Amino acid sequence: MAEWQRTHTCGQLREEHVGQTVTLNGWVLITRKFGNQVFVDLRDRYGLTQVVFESDAAELFATAEKLGREWVVSITGLVRKRVAGAERADIATGAVEVEAKTLRVLNTCPPLPFSVTEFPDEELANEDLRLQYRYLDLRRRSIQRVLIQRHRVCKVIRDFMDSNQFLEVETPLLGKSTPEGARDYLVPSRVFNGEFFALPQSPQLYKQLLMISGYDRYFQIARCLRDEDLRADRQPEFTQLDVEMSFVERDDIITIMERLAVDIFDKCLGVKLSTPFARLTYAESMAKYGCDKPDLRYSLEIVDISDIAAQSDFTVFKDALAAGGMVRAINAKGAAAKFSNTQLKPGGELPKVAETYRAKGLYFMKAEGGKLIGGIEKQFPDPLKEALKAKLNVVDGDLLLFVADKENVVCDALGALRVHLATAMKLYRNWWDEKAEHDAVEKKKEKEAGKKKEKYAPVPFQPRPEHFNFLWVTDFPMFGYDEEEKKWAAMHHPFTAPMDEDLEHFATDAGLGKVRAKAYDMVLNGYEVGGGSIRIHRNDVQSRVFQILGMEVADAKERFGFLLDALQSGAPPHGGIALGLDRWCMVLAGTTNIRDVIAFPKNQKARDLMTGAPAVVEPRQLKELGVKLS
Ligand code: ASP
Repeated sequence: MAEWQRTHTCGQLREEHVGQTVTLNGWVLITRKFGNQVFVDLRDRYGLTQVVFESDAAELFATAEKLGREWVVSITGLVRKRVAGAERADIATGAVEVEAKTLRVLNTCPPLPFSVTEFPDEELANEDLRLQYRYLDLRRRSIQRVLIQRHRVCKVIRDFMDSNQFLEVETPLLGKSTPEGARDYLVPSRVFNGEFFALPQSPQLYKQLLMISGYDRYFQIARCLRDEDLRADRQPEFTQLDVEMSFVERDDIITIMERLAVDIFDKCLGVKLSTPFARLTYAESMAKYGCDKPDLRYSLEIVDISDIAAQSDFTVFKDALAAGGMVRAINAKGAAAKFSNTQLKPGGELPKVAETYRAKGLYFMKAEGGKLIGGIEKQFPDPLKEALKAKLNVVDGDLLLFVADKENVVCDALGALRVHLATAMKLYRNWWDEKAEHDAVEKKKEKEAGKKKEKYAPVPFQPRPEHFNFLWVTDFPMFGYDEEEKKWAAMHHPFTAPMDEDLEHFATDAGLGKVRAKAYDMVLNGYEVGGGSIRIHRNDVQSRVFQILGMEVADAKERFGFLLDALQSGAPPHGGIALGLDRWCMVLAGTTNIRDVIAFPKNQKARDLMTGAPAVVEPRQLKELGVKLS
């Protein structure tokens, strides 16, 4: 070991080391000079150690005074107890400090574009700047924590899968397009000019082929690439836990994934989830919550009141019903006083939400003094009002909101309104919001401790099971009709099996809208955090799906011939799922920004601000690839 190399990390020293001579390597977080002492906070990914330079060692002291932030140093010194009262309870090494005897500057660092310290009131630098200098940003303690946690999540997954006989198998990045519904990233072939590899949108076909090859329990922490418009929770390349199993039914996959979720939450967040998770069919979910990934931390159920509306005098409702539509309502319990008439009338806050989802209007009534008043109250004679009250379980203070339209519009509008109301009325708490409040209280206590502040160790926040609402949505429709393209599209992907009891509808084009798929989604707090299906394992059924999706036989053979052949070569019944690892890590880390849980993410426009990718390439390279820019 070279003399400068560390004997301990910056997070390691405790009282038991007092009296030992140690060498630490790390980065200078900050330096402070107090009279005849220079204090250096030395940092590495394990923690922080206070190093003291005493002025009696004049030369050493002079060098220490010149140390800049983020310089890399090696310090050899004596571990000693901090003076009484100067201990820090909030860091693991807080009982001790190192009195420096030797200082070696291993490297210097120019002034930083932003600070990597994270003092309590310090604001983060602008995200673009942090992404441009991501290697500096990654030094921040909170990002380190997230990456360490992400590592831990992967480790828990691998251990769990391994102990359940799953094999991790890597599948190609350079392959053929797998239709998951997004645009492919294409890679031109140099050897075969004019031909392209597609980067995988998922390992879907490979994992199915592995089942056919007999690897009956597969998983992979797989990188997937989809060229789609980005949102806060999307990146062009993302990671999923990809799983496939043979000789299974839906419930086998659901059960094993629930066990995995329990393990991850227990080991990575200290939260004990209980299973089984709730289940809803797609039809129930759409009817009650207006979407297929409802957040059930709050109720706000949608109720169909078409039968009552049909007897009312309100032409808007009657016309919608006559056109084959429906009238549905939400009873926002206790919300009457929370929303003014201005917020409820056309152009107001709530109607605007409904209109964003194509609803022509949003109508309301309030419950007061045992009566329904305001809004469209006059359109409903008293007996109908009583019927509404009974059906919607109305008590004084409630606010009733109605939308009338075609089913999909009613679902979308009321579904969105449900989320809007829950947020506005604070019907749920994200654990990180509660943590922020908790931390603020802890900080206040720390302040109140005054001089004894260093002695106060803030109590860490512990998330609880009720912060996490898991559920399964099952029985999705197999196909959705694309009105614009005038053709059927697969709701999950084209390899999903139809339900056995719906096979009769599957045979005829007229019945296609009724076919349900053996597909399921895992939902957490209103986010889809996983999705999968039992697959088609018969060539004839798969060929029929391709045909329904508008693929000519020759085309299907050309694109998926290998799969159709494989399905004829001893394909076992199989199914699987994929969990969006980045989203899981976001929830576990308590962030809503996917870039926070990825070491080197792209920005919102799919550009890597650090390397500048994507970038122009040499004309020579394009020529080799046979690519001409127009
Ligand atoms: N391939 C699917 C996806 O990436 C998951 C699955 O069906 O297993 O969404």
